[in-house]
Amino acid sequence: MSNREPYVRRKGKLERTAGGLVSALDPIMRKNGGVWIAAGEKEPGAGSHSMTMIPPDSPSYSQKSIWLSPWEEDNYYNGYSNRFLWPLCHMTLDRVYLRRSYWNAYKRVNNLFAWAVLEEAGDTDVVWLQDYHLSLCAGYIKEVRQKATVLHFWHIPWPPYDIFRICPQRREILEGLLSNDLLGFQLDTFCKNFMTCVERELDAGIDYKEGYVHYRGHTTKVKAFPISADFSWFTDKASTKRAKDAWARFRNRLNLPPEGLVGIGVDRLEYTKGLIKRLETLDLFFSKYPRYRGRFTFVQVAVPTRRVEPYLSYKTMVENMVAAINAKHEEDGWEPIRYIDHKLNHEELAAIYRGADLAIISSVYDGMNLVAKEYVASQVDEKGVLLLSELAGAADGIPGAVLINPYDTEGFADVIKDALQMPASEKRKSMEASRSYIKENDIFKWVADVLGEVEKIR
Ligand code: UDP
Repeated sequence: MSNREPYVRRKGKLERTAGGLVSALDPIMRKNGGVWIAAGEKEPGAGSHSMTMIPPDSPSYSQKSIWLSPWEEDNYYNGYSNRFLWPLCHMTLDRVYLRRSYWNAYKRVNNLFAWAVLEEAGDTDVVWLQDYHLSLCAGYIKEVRQKATVLHFWHIPWPPYDIFRICPQRREILEGLLSNDLLGFQLDTFCKNFMTCVERELDAGIDYKEGYVHYRGHTTKVKAFPISADFSWFTDKASTKRAKDAWARFRNRLNLPPEGLVGIGVDRLEYTKGLIKRLETLDLFFSKYPRYRGRFTFVQVAVPTRRVEPYLSYKTMVENMVAAINAKHEEDGWEPIRYIDHKLNHEELAAIYRGADLAIISSVYDGMNLVAKEYVASQVDEKGVLLLSELAGAADGIPGAVLINPYDTEGFADVIKDALQMPASEKRKSMEASRSYIKENDIFKWVADVLGEVEKIR
C-alpha cells in the first residue's frame, strides 16, 4: 500500500509510474500475486474504489485505487502529510503548519486505506505499508486482523525527540506505528530517534541494541534498510548508443559549449533539496573563479510536484535567483545556469547522468536521495564526480562520493572547483568504488532484506 499508484492511465494506456519503489516491487507482485492499494490520481467519484488488473494482457496482480474527495485529498495529502509531517520530519520548523481539519482528514483516510486492506487480506497475509502518509493504518488493521503480518517502511527521516515533541498527535502516531510487526527506516540514526521518542512518550520496553520495542503486549522490530536504485537498469540504459545520441541532442538543445564541462542537479522543486544554497554557491563560484565562465554550465532540473504553498513561493524564489545569477555572469550568449522545469523520464535521465561531469546533491536534509545513486549507476565511463550533501541519508554509505556541507557556501564553491580539476585517474578510482557499492546494494537487495526480515518475524 502506498499513497501513489504504481500504474496510471495516460491517453487510455496503462503506464507504470517512474520510481525505484515501483520498479522493485512490480516484478515481485507480478511473481507472487496480490493487491497494491493506492490513492487514485484522478477522481471518478469520491468514496469509491476501482480495480485494475496488472499487466492488462496477462494479469498477475491487481491495483485497487481508492478515490478521495477533494476535501480528503487536500487535508490529508497537502495538509497533514505535506504541510505538517514532511517539514517536521525534515526539521524545517518554520514551514510546519497545522490545522485541525488536516488531522481529521488524515485519520479518516488512514481508516479508508485500512478498510481497503481488510476487504482484501486474509487472516495471516503480509501487508506492506509505505511512507508517512499511512502512519495510523497498522493500528486500524490489527484491531481486526491480529494475525496478519504488517510492516511499514518510513522513507523520510525520523527527527530527534526535541523536534518530534512539536507534534500534538505524537502519541497516536507512535502507537499506530508500533502496531506494525516490522518498522523500517533508512538509517540507524532514524531508528534510534524513533525509539527515543517512544521512550519519552509511552510506557514501552525498548531494546536499542537489537531494535525491539515491546508495547501493550506487542513487539515491533525496528531496523534500518537504506533504499537504493535499480543499478543494472540505469547502467544498461546509460550504456547504449541511444543514450550517447540523446546526450548530444540535449547539449545542442540547451546550447551548451561543445567542449565545456557540465554539472547537473535533478530534483523535485522542493525546499529540502537545498536549491537556494546550491544557487548561492554557484553565484559565488562564478564570482570567485571567473575563468570558468563559458567553460562550465550547470543544468538544473527542478520538477514542480506539489502545486500549493509553500511550493509556489519557493518556485518563484528559485526562478528569480536563476535569472539574477544568469544576468550577472552571462558572457557572449553563454549563461551559467540552464533551468528545466519539467519532469524527465528515467531513460532521458540515464543519458544525462552519464554525460554530466559532475552532479550536485545539496539537500539540507534528506532521508536517502535516489538521484545520487542513479547518477552513480549511470556513470558507465567513470568520468564524473558526485558531490553529495553530508545531510542526505545517501552520504552514510557511498564510498567515493565527495561530501559537501550546503551551509558552508565558500567551502562548497571550492569543492566544485576541485571536482572540475580532479585528475581523470582519481575520478575513475572514486567512481569505481561508488559503482561497486551501489551494484552490491541495489533496490532488489533492499526488497530482499526487508522481506527476509519479515520471514524471520513470521
Ligand atoms: N525524477 C524523475 N524525473 C525528474 C526528476 C526526478 O524521474 O525529472 C525521479 C528521480 O529519478 C528519482 C526520484 O524522482 O528516482 C527522486 O527521488 P529522491 O530520492 O532523489 O528524492 P524524493 O523526490 O523522493 O524526495
